[in-house]
Amino acid sequence: MTQITVKGFADQIGIPPDTLLRQLEAAGLSAKKADDELTDEEKEKLFHYLRASHGAGDEGAGRKKITLKRKSTSQVVQSTRTGASRTVQVEVRKKRTFIKRATIEETPAATEEAPVAEPEVAAPAVAAEAVAPAREAVVAEAAAPAVAPAVAPKAEIPAPAVKPAALAKPAPAPAKDVKKPHKGKKERLEKLEERERGELHLAAGKKVRRKVRMVANKPVVTSVTGQHGFERPTAPIVHEVALPETVTVAELAQKMSIKAAEVIKTLMQMGSMVTINQVLDRDTATLVVEEMGHVVKEAKPTSPEELLAAPTAEAAAAAEPRPPVVTVMGHVDHGKTSLLDYIRKAKVAAGEAGGITQHIGAYHVETPKGVVTFLDTPGHEAFTAMRARGAKATDIVILVVAADDGVMPQTVEAVHHARNAKVPLVVAVNKIDKPEAQPDRVRQELTKHEVVPEEWGGGEIFVNVSAKSGEGIDKLLESVLLTAEVLELKAPKAGPAAGLVVEARLDKGRGPVATVLVQRGTLHKGDVILAGREFGRVRAMLDEKGRPVKEAGPSIPVEVQGLSGVPSAGEEAMVVESERKAREIALYRQGKFKDVQLARQQAAKLSNVFEQLKESEEAKSLNLIIKADVQGSIEALTVALEKLSTPEVKVKVVHGMVGGITESDVNLAVASSAVIIGFNVRADSTARRLIEHQGVDVHYYNVIYDAVDEVRAAMTGMLKPQFKEQLLGLAEVRDVFRSPKMGAVAGCYVVEGVVRRNRPIRVLRDNVVIFEGELESLRRFKDDAGEVKAGLECGIAVKNYNDVKVGDQIEVYEKVEVARTL
Ligand code: GDP
Ligand code: MG
Repeated sequence: MTQITVKGFADQIGIPPDTLLRQLEAAGLSAKKADDELTDEEKEKLFHYLRASHGAGDEGAGRKKITLKRKSTSQVVQSTRTGASRTVQVEVRKKRTFIKRATIEETPAATEEAPVAEPEVAAPAVAAEAVAPAREAVVAEAAAPAVAPAVAPKAEIPAPAVKPAALAKPAPAPAKDVKKPHKGKKERLEKLEERERGELHLAAGKKVRRKVRMVANKPVVTSVTGQHGFERPTAPIVHEVALPETVTVAELAQKMSIKAAEVIKTLMQMGSMVTINQVLDRDTATLVVEEMGHVVKEAKPTSPEELLAAPTAEAAAAAEPRPPVVTVMGHVDHGKTSLLDYIRKAKVAAGEAGGITQHIGAYHVETPKGVVTFLDTPGHEAFTAMRARGAKATDIVILVVAADDGVMPQTVEAVHHARNAKVPLVVAVNKIDKPEAQPDRVRQELTKHEVVPEEWGGGEIFVNVSAKSGEGIDKLLESVLLTAEVLELKAPKAGPAAGLVVEARLDKGRGPVATVLVQRGTLHKGDVILAGREFGRVRAMLDEKGRPVKEAGPSIPVEVQGLSGVPSAGEEAMVVESERKAREIALYRQGKFKDVQLARQQAAKLSNVFEQLKESEEAKSLNLIIKADVQGSIEALTVALEKLSTPEVKVKVVHGMVGGITESDVNLAVASSAVIIGFNVRADSTARRLIEHQGVDVHYYNVIYDAVDEVRAAMTGMLKPQFKEQLLGLAEVRDVFRSPKMGAVAGCYVVEGVVRRNRPIRVLRDNVVIFEGELESLRRFKDDAGEVKAGLECGIAVKNYNDVKVGDQIEVYEKVEVARTL
């Protein structure tokens, strides 16, 4: 190694030779003069001295940190609302304290070097250089350049390259530290940004511009310490929020990772006061989420169909034999109610002195041969109304026929309804205690309607009973169980329950109560059930005796409490896993209700029979319900229409009866996808409402040929544009006057639409057409009127007709051309 003089060395490291000499003196190399040569050993000695002296100095607390103070002033020009501007002096005082790491693993010396630059030993210039980068940001940077000059005095080579062997020990470590931070400012910022991004869990690639600026101005002291620290997010984090049908305020806040109070505040600003547990619908929640700057993720609504399709434990459970469910039908006063009451009293309350049974819509009885469940809303109306809703509750129908009265219209109707539902019949020939009873006449009359007793070689069991004396009741129950055996009724007992709402009402004290007939699985107290558009947790469960029960298996009816509202009879009830899910589906159904109604209206239309037949492989029968003024018309129509059957399409009259169209007819039409034909009859007001509601197709005719022609046309897809009657108005006769000029004048009240003069009319009595003609004179008080609207009274005289009576209805119509769509 080449020798160098003291002066040369001083020059090399850029300090005055005097200072170097003083240091050499202090290091015990006092003999040195400015022109003396310095050996490597001497340099080493000086270096050790300097280290030692500063190491000692470091024990002073003041040496462990560097405090930087900076003051900057600037001016901010503010413009006020009045237009004048003022200048504000802004003085920013910054004070930064950099604390040295207490110990740094392998190279304590390196860190200790840092302050070396500061003391008197080093030239002020060196100190300044050392501190300057620190001002930039990182202490490591401050420390690093400082090392080099401090070391330099002993090295004869350029200072920053701390390479020489002599310096090998202390140098390498700081060298590492030195190099890294010596990158461009921009590069460093990017580095920082990168790290910060990691800390904030921001998605890569989601670069937020603002952050760069913020980092640049920010003290980053924390980074040197190598410790983890929290930092405020520098950009809003946008959450994707998936919203279910409903969500509580607390849940919504959680989804956005914010406090519920923030959500409440936002809602308040939006004008609604809510509590933390309040349930918000999806629309409201969406507004809140967007208002708070987050994004709503499209959530697929859970459709009830999906839920039904989902495999459940119940599906896997093995089916076990279950009791039959029975409905009692028959003509009015033939003893349906008496029969149900007798069985209930004799069997349900048996053994309980004065036991009172509850009417909950259903009950079950235990006989030695097995259990039978009765739906105790008698009649085919309830039966078919349920079927119209798509529910099949009944396994067997008991047809009650009074032996003293024989087969009556509603007996036949009941047969039709049961047949359409494909439910077997057991005939109870009632009132055999009466002396005038003729049970065999009943058998004979029913044979005409294809209900033939077994003893005569037919398929139906007939049992003579008396609901009064109880005679034959046991045999009747036995026959029911026998029929059930043939049907092989089965249902799984295990798994979550599913069933039907048989009856439901609002109880003053208990809120909504519903009788649920379990059809599959077992219903437990505490289960969450979904019943149509209502839901709730089963709070209490009672049997038909009013006793609390804990569970109910297949075919067992129970009255449940705890629903959110009153469901409709015939609606499906099922257990779902959570109240939340139940609520979601219930709301979904409430929303979908209208759609469902619309979908229903697609059912059975004469105008699209052809299309339906073409499309569907199965729909090979055109079902018709005929209501007519006289029996003869029904027979003639049935023959003529059924003759239209082709090998592809079978025309089937599923029900024919004298009289106006009733609610029960409409329900049957819905249940059996039938078109109703009204021959000289009309629908009553309840039926009309249901027709509209259910979208049932009803056609009125007064000429058999017209009906046959139209049905034929529909079947071949040849329905042409034609004239169709359009009802204009309906007036009710409230009074009848005699006028010498006009004859009978009907004092009427217009109940529907509008009544116009010179229009064709029909006179209806009990919804049956009794006269057709023309409206001759229309008067309002004493004056002639062109038209009279609903809600007003008027006088109507019908041309050539004087037989009008109080209670009759006058139908006014028009013929309009209708284009038929196929
Ligand atoms: P529903 O209209 O079919 O429900 O018939 P009800 O059960 O109301 O009975 C009508 C009438 O027939 C009532 O007065 C009953 O007391 C009576 N009744 C019902 N069953 C019998 C019976 O087996 N024998 C006798 N003698 N009367 C009966
Ligand atoms: Mg009754």
